[in-house]
Amino acid sequence: MTTLTHNLGFPRIGAQRELKKALETYWKGQSSIDQLLTTAREIRTGNWLLQQKTGIDLIPVGDFSLYDHVLDMTALLGAIPQRFGNTGGSISSDLYFAMARGTADQPAMEMTKWFNTNYHYIVPEFDSNTQFRLASDRLFQEIEAAKALGINAKAVLIGPLSYLHLGKEITPDFQRLDLLPRLLPVYREILQKIAALGVEWVQIDEPILSLDLEQSWLDGFTKAYHTLRDNGCRLLLTTYFGTVDHHLALLKNLPVNGLHIDVSSVQEQLESFLTEDFSDKTLSLGCIDGRNIWHADLSQKLNTLSQAASRFAGELWVAPSCSLLHCPVDLTLETKLEPEIRNWLAFSVQKLEEIATLGCGLNQGRESIKAILLASDEARRSRTESSRIYNPIVHQRIDNLAERDSQRTHPFATRKHLQQQRFNLPLLPTTTIGSFPQTATIRQARAAFRKNELSHLEYLSAMRAEIQEMIRKQEEIGLDVLVHGEPERNDMVEYFGEQLWGYAFTENGWVQSYGSRCVKPPILYGDVYRPKAMTVEWSKYAQSQTRKPVKGMLTGPVTMLMWSFVRDDQPRSTTALQLALAIRDEVTDLENAGIGMIQIDEPAFREGLPLRKQDWEPYLDWAVKAFRIASSSVKDETQIHTHMCYSEFHDILPAIAELDADVITIETSRSRMELLDAFVKFSYPNEIGPGVYDIHSPRVPDASEMLELLKKASRHIDPKSLWVNPDCGLKTRNWPETQTALQKMVDCAKTLRSTLQA
Ligand code: GLN
Ligand code: ZN
Repeated sequence: MTTLTHNLGFPRIGAQRELKKALETYWKGQSSIDQLLTTAREIRTGNWLLQQKTGIDLIPVGDFSLYDHVLDMTALLGAIPQRFGNTGGSISSDLYFAMARGTADQPAMEMTKWFNTNYHYIVPEFDSNTQFRLASDRLFQEIEAAKALGINAKAVLIGPLSYLHLGKEITPDFQRLDLLPRLLPVYREILQKIAALGVEWVQIDEPILSLDLEQSWLDGFTKAYHTLRDNGCRLLLTTYFGTVDHHLALLKNLPVNGLHIDVSSVQEQLESFLTEDFSDKTLSLGCIDGRNIWHADLSQKLNTLSQAASRFAGELWVAPSCSLLHCPVDLTLETKLEPEIRNWLAFSVQKLEEIATLGCGLNQGRESIKAILLASDEARRSRTESSRIYNPIVHQRIDNLAERDSQRTHPFATRKHLQQQRFNLPLLPTTTIGSFPQTATIRQARAAFRKNELSHLEYLSAMRAEIQEMIRKQEEIGLDVLVHGEPERNDMVEYFGEQLWGYAFTENGWVQSYGSRCVKPPILYGDVYRPKAMTVEWSKYAQSQTRKPVKGMLTGPVTMLMWSFVRDDQPRSTTALQLALAIRDEVTDLENAGIGMIQIDEPAFREGLPLRKQDWEPYLDWAVKAFRIASSSVKDETQIHTHMCYSEFHDILPAIAELDADVITIETSRSRMELLDAFVKFSYPNEIGPGVYDIHSPRVPDASEMLELLKKASRHIDPKSLWVNPDCGLKTRNWPETQTALQKMVDCAKTLRSTLQA
């Protein structure tokens, strides 16, 4: 039987971030919607043709998005929250972007992390009145366009169970699963329309299958897929990001035509699917890692696939483990990477080539791809034997780590007292999360320095001028604890990665984070070592400009790990410890330079949680340990802050408390402070700054709104432990908006302070 190759999704931002630029120009009112849609069409078409040229048999259509694929499902299914006032008709682009980004009078829909990735999706909002209707033609138009180009299209949809599961109830006493009967008729309609367009296969993504699911949701699968069968298309039920073999019996009985499983991050589950008889279905094997950038060991992959093919009676397909959304586009654009390291890598385009190669090997025999296999073996060997990877000093330090290296000298109560004496802060101290608007001047100076158009001294004075100005602005606004503003950083991980040994970085290795926002994760390929201080000069300079305390600003070891492409040749826990030691050295240097408060950001702390609860404990153990090693070298009177954003922390509060940071700032404004209840219930022991306004939206909140949130916080949390801050860094905002918002925030804190003290 021939093996087909297919792809689950291609990065949509464009190899040179064309979509980002087009979106941002449009949002600024500098281009028309038609111009934006033209760019989008060009990217989409280019992606299809490229996949076709690479030799991929079935090409995903519907994976593209202007902002987010979950929001696209919301638009397709007409599940527009009532607060956006849409009563019918198709979804305009204004409405679409209003849901994504908020408007003058409506906050944006909530955003949260897509499983354990650093991609953020727009959370569907449900209440008992939610109705569904086919409300967008976008998918069907894209299918028509693809077919017109001769693309062998496979339509992509998020499945009904995952769609409901990924959303949230906005009214109590109601369960979103109850909406399933209302939802399924619309799915049927969609499938029928797809079939009418002559598309045979629909990839129906149900990634929630890699989670622990309650019985009611499992029953929902049976119900839904019995309803959705026989609509004219063949359904490929698609799972990824982990094992699904805990649902083996359910999967076997679902009336779908095919099943995609991830056998890259979890090779073990292949066995379960081969042992159990799945031969009535097409089995798609996600054997190329869609989330990391290492070149695959093609010989080994081919062996596994050939064995699977000889044991499996049904049809086998080959694919990446998940959508390539999480991978940069094209390695050939990287001209500056060390050739040795480059040889170890594969981005989306190269991964598709690997898939095409494996397809060829399976269909035409190993001989037909002999040269490629040899090159792959050689790349593998060069990586294992390279002297770039191993650093004995690092290994020795890890071996010598003792219990006391992850403990502060005294418990928090003692430290709190000493810190209060040292800093003498008012009740409800105000601060920010670290970054300030990255103005054109800042970006230009950084770019010029990179291109050697600015000398070191010119760059230094440009950045110092920015820092000085930001300190002045913060003093004018009346903030209590200042920051230097991070003008020298393009990205909170890349900035550190560039200065550490063991890291490589790319020119165009962009990955979408949310909407038009992209990150360029550095590549962790070897043992991590900090040759010299990374931030001390900037922080020292900022502190020299003010009598108020300036927080040193670092990225924590867990976030460094989660937002990098990590080694696949040692456990993540080992890499985390190596990173922790590098940060620890920086913390020590900052303290010695007279910086009294040091913030170690861990926005990705929760992101690292394994998808299934049974795997949480070992992760939390090493993640907490890494943070504590990074932060525990300091004296009692040095105040350690940490910051986390976007997350639900309810279930990991004990671990967050165990980090033992003196102050934590968290995102709460988008979820309207619901998170606080959890901190109160758990009686979080240290100080806390719940974000009082949402920086992810251009909307400046009313002072009354902020004051309300702040009052709510002060009713829940002892005001002596309460800080006042926005919910994240301000680098994506502009100055006028930032200044207005921060001024309101400081005024609110003052108002409440005087009430509390009266
Ligand atoms: N200090 C960082 C900033 O302000 C934190 C960013 C984040 O939490 N993602 O930009
Ligand atoms: Zn944040």
